[in-house]
Amino acid sequence: MGITVAQLREQVRGAVIDRDDAGFDQARRVYNAMIDRRPQVVVQCRNAGDVAAAVGYARENGLDLAVRGGGHSVPGFGTCDDGVVIDLAPMRGVRVVPGSRTVRAEGGATWGDVDAATHAFGLATTGGIISSTGVGGLTLGGGIGHLARGQGLTCDNLISADVVTAGGELVVADEHRHADLFWALRGGGGNFGVVTSFEFRLTPVRDIYGGLIFFELDQIPNVLRAYREIIADAPERLSMFPAFQIAPPLPFIPQDRHGDALIAIVACWAGPIDAGPDAVRPLRDIAPIVAEHLGPMPYPLLNGTFDVLVPPGLQHYWKANFVVELTDEMIAAHVEHGPRVPVVNSTVHIYPINGACHRVAPDATAFAYRDANFATVIAGMWPDPADNAANIAWVRDYYAATAPHSEEGGYVNFMAGDDQGRIKANYRGNYGRLVQVKRAYDPENLFHLNQNVRP
Ligand SMILES: Cc1cc2nc3c(=O)[nH]c(=O)nc-3n(C[C@H](O)[C@H](O)[C@H](O)COP(=O)(O)OP(=O)(O)OC[C@H]3O[C@@H](n4cnc5c(N)ncnc54)[C@H](O)[C@@H]3O)c2cc1C
Repeated sequence: MGITVAQLREQVRGAVIDRDDAGFDQARRVYNAMIDRRPQVVVQCRNAGDVAAAVGYARENGLDLAVRGGGHSVPGFGTCDDGVVIDLAPMRGVRVVPGSRTVRAEGGATWGDVDAATHAFGLATTGGIISSTGVGGLTLGGGIGHLARGQGLTCDNLISADVVTAGGELVVADEHRHADLFWALRGGGGNFGVVTSFEFRLTPVRDIYGGLIFFELDQIPNVLRAYREIIADAPERLSMFPAFQIAPPLPFIPQDRHGDALIAIVACWAGPIDAGPDAVRPLRDIAPIVAEHLGPMPYPLLNGTFDVLVPPGLQHYWKANFVVELTDEMIAAHVEHGPRVPVVNSTVHIYPINGACHRVAPDATAFAYRDANFATVIAGMWPDPADNAANIAWVRDYYAATAPHSEEGGYVNFMAGDDQGRIKANYRGNYGRLVQVKRAYDPENLFHLNQNVRP
């Protein structure tokens, strides 16, 4: 006989919410409103012991198990039908140790939580560009952000992780202990256990110089060609990425341009502030500027700049690819599809992942694409479910046009639920080792609601 819900409630400190509870509809919800699933229970874990109990409950009862950090997974991996959801949202504690330049974040912390805590001490690590994204899913898939060219991917800054395994054990994984697990956690996604605590290396970064520059759509070829040239050997403290974006009604954008599709460059100079204007000058010289908002700002502010455009409750459908060379053919695909960005919430970002990301060997962590210079995300986000077909079609057509000029794999964290067929390609030569680690730590594939590595 399995464990009952009543027994589970006795075992855990956090709330166990089932379908009869008033908070059920709130508790089952994830960020992507397209996902509408009804788990049997949501366990709002308060500590690693709660997590181990919830893992045991799912395992012993043969139930599906979803693990939710920040809940941002576009395919909705943070919830399930009829199974158990481990919701780590109550576990958002962050502890900075300025002396050793490290930070520890609990498994349900968001990047807003981490950035605010480390900023107070003039320290930072590579993290997501939206403050509500979870540290958990982002780190486990790799982690791309404004500091990546200088500091590497988020997973490259991971020092250790506390992990509750499928067997319900709590282990510490780092370079010396459970080293294979530690290798797999850095890019291999949520396949290997529930991380209850992440420890990261930090670098001195307090304020950055950056912001947004908008150009006309007829400048797309100039902007993308200049981007590929500048970013190839720009100082690593400079990050920039092009974005297709409908101009939101912001005061720095001329009123008569609100609602127009434009191409933007999002810039971040993480070096000495005085050097900021010179560092971003080449970007301002690319073409005539429609609108710009550049200046010194706290690093967490840049990582919250787009928050208002992507509130919870939108419909999401995304596609991704890795790109080695931003060829003229690829630029032509962007010229055709970028201007068709349908709504102000949607965007296409072409992130640079050279610099420090390239200094990590392709087999040193599970994240294999160390020769890719760019990670593209075609992020369809829109408010009205009635518009699903049109918005999904925009993402798919765009992806189909760029795929021939991209690598076979894409960044796991930017991919759709229908991309499971690309998992092997995402991990290239690392896939075999990931399968081995999966067999060692989760032979029954209890953790299968993710971009799944099958044992
Ligand atoms: C608005 C938005 C902005 C984004 N910006 C960026 C960005 O700047 N850079 C970037 O790299 N990515 C970005 N992403 C993609 C993001 O990395 C993925 O969506 C990621 O999966 C989100 O992690 P989460 O914890 O919020 O999601 P969740 O839905 O909670 O989890 C995602 C996956 O990770 C697993 N997981 C989460 N936490 C844990 C844990 N503690 N232990 C074990 N498994 C866990 C889940 O089981 C699931 O499989 C963004 C996504 C959105 C929606």
